[in-house]
Amino acid sequence: MANDEVLMERMSWREIEEAIAGGKTTVILAVASIEQHGPHLPTGTDTYLGYALAEGIAHELGNALVAPVMRPGLSEHHLDFPGTVTLTQGTFMKVLEEYCISLAGHGFKDIVLISSHGGNSDTMVALLPRIAKALKDRCQVHMVIPNIREQPAEIEEIYREYGISRAQAGVHSGFAETSMMLALHPELVDMDKAEEGRADEAFYHPDRIKYSQIESFVYGVRSQSPNGILGDARSARPEAGRRLLDARIKQAVEEIRKMISVAQEEMKGTS
Ligand SMILES: [Zn+2]
Repeated sequence: MANDEVLMERMSWREIEEAIAGGKTTVILAVASIEQHGPHLPTGTDTYLGYALAEGIAHELGNALVAPVMRPGLSEHHLDFPGTVTLTQGTFMKVLEEYCISLAGHGFKDIVLISSHGGNSDTMVALLPRIAKALKDRCQVHMVIPNIREQPAEIEEIYREYGISRAQAGVHSGFAETSMMLALHPELVDMDKAEEGRADEAFYHPDRIKYSQIESFVYGVRSQSPNGILGDARSARPEAGRRLLDARIKQAVEEIRKMISVAQEEMKGTS
């Protein structure tokens, strides 16, 4: 094992035990999906992104390991496309809860949940108090909660530099995800098949985006976008993808540091 290895599934139990004893007491659990990502991206896209984000966050934090990315996720709204595999909500919640219970038994002080698939996020937020309560005597549970209405300023700036609108960036397999995949796994991206999907600005307007997402859950993505893209993949660039990933990692790390220090203060206050 390389000294800077953080992926638990590449480590032996002894290496994991030593890492935790040596201070790597935070574990990052990315919750992803197996679902269609347009004609040009693989169905594992959210899983690859989950690994990249979690690894980036763990390296940046310096005291963290990365749990095997959880998938399938909640992808019922993509089931009209071949290759999509989903859990139902009750199963998903059970798997996530038991996953955290397993991790809590190993000596981690903090479990940090991140979602690399928008369809998981609301259910994870709703489940968080229950998991936190179940584990309260063993460790703290945190979640980096995505804001669907508003992107961080740094990400908006990258879109501006590349002349990309909110609709082109998209929420699924558009400029943003395609660029990130070009940065991580260019061998899995077929830019000859990259297309425009649903890319009307109104659909992505901050006042409308949550409703658009609920519409996806109700009617399925195929009714909104026959090729499965919500955004426009055609002008994706690997350099932009690397910057988008770095910005997301930086933002998550800042949030995690804040959450963990707040939780530690609370602990001191109650002990
Ligand atoms: Zn995705």
